[in-house]
Amino acid sequence: MKHVAIIGCGQLARMLALAGWRMGIRFSFVACHEEETHCINGLGNIVRWRGSRTASDLYRALGNPDAITVERESVCTELLQGLSQHCAVHPSHEAVWTCQHRLREKHMLDGLEIATAEYCGALTPDDMELAIAQLGYPVIVKAASDSYDGKQQRRLENRADLAAMKTLLKGQSSGEWLVEKCIPFEREISFIAARSTGGDIVFYPPTENVHRNGILMHSTAPAQGLDGGLEQSGRNYLTALMEALKYVGVLSMECFLLDNRLLVNELAPRVHNSGHWTLDAHITCQFENHLRAILGLPLGDTQLNHYSGLVNILGEQDQPLNLASLSASAAVHWYNKPFAPGRKLGHLGLSADSSLELQRQVRQLHHELSTPGNHA
Ligand code: ATP
Ligand code: MG
Repeated sequence: MKHVAIIGCGQLARMLALAGWRMGIRFSFVACHEEETHCINGLGNIVRWRGSRTASDLYRALGNPDAITVERESVCTELLQGLSQHCAVHPSHEAVWTCQHRLREKHMLDGLEIATAEYCGALTPDDMELAIAQLGYPVIVKAASDSYDGKQQRRLENRADLAAMKTLLKGQSSGEWLVEKCIPFEREISFIAARSTGGDIVFYPPTENVHRNGILMHSTAPAQGLDGGLEQSGRNYLTALMEALKYVGVLSMECFLLDNRLLVNELAPRVHNSGHWTLDAHITCQFENHLRAILGLPLGDTQLNHYSGLVNILGEQDQPLNLASLSASAAVHWYNKPFAPGRKLGHLGLSADSSLELQRQVRQLHHELSTPGNHA
């Protein structure tokens, strides 16, 4: 029986393990510092990592796994490097190192001539001001690392916003920032692909994503009305990135679509929220393909013959959601996390025979999720 260890204990680790159990794989998990483990309790052995052990100690404590992977990019890459002396570690520490820092990631994209939003790096509020002088308002300022779901991001429209940002930063220890031109995008599209140890690549259909306040609300696939050339550009970008990084596993790429052009927003060296619909789409889901890739198995089919999507369940109301109140046609994926406002608590998987029907289901579910009576 193969054994995979996952660094991280959130919903992505949970869905990897649930997909892997079905394939006869067993799991162990690394919980970093005080990380919560609700999502993966019962799915395998959990080892707490406080940074005091060596990589060999950790490898042994995990029970000598066959492969190690990550569910997030914010992990210690020296640790990944140390673990790679003992077993396969995918994605590699170099790939994670590049993608865990927004400026390093942008530099790699520049090097491959992949278009992104114009940007500058900033270490101080004065640097930010210089960056804005170059880019022009509006900009989005993002922490270079350790940020997700639109956290540690601020849109600056004018000098007053910059002054407010400077005041906010006054009391804080120094950080590194990406100052990025705001893109008046028409749509947001993500591309997800898996690459095997032998270099084969499979692509999921492009997915359209709708965010609110930087958090993904829903995704639908395949993205409608995309020019065939655009889909090919997305595939070419992912191929170039995966080959440059000698990548093994699932890599996700978030893009803005503007004037029939793709601008890459960011990469995720892992399975991605916008790919959760693959669980209910009767194809090889992103979790299974990631596991297949890192264990050196052939990749599974990603060809979608209908329409599929997901709606995220966020802790929006101040009461937990009553799942029984939702349309029965949606597949419930619940992450077992404690309730907190704005938190991703689960998602609903959808499939439909037409794009119109899929959009109708998405609207219906958003309505049900925001109806106060459906919260117990
Ligand atoms: P996540 O990890 O959940 O994907 P994140 O915190 O890493 O989110 P981004 O993906 O960079 O952040 O941004 C979140 C969302 O904010 C984007 O999907 C987009 O809707 C909006 N956004 C980010 N950057 C820009 C930009 N330059 N111009 C316009 N909108 C932007
Ligand atoms: Mg994002």
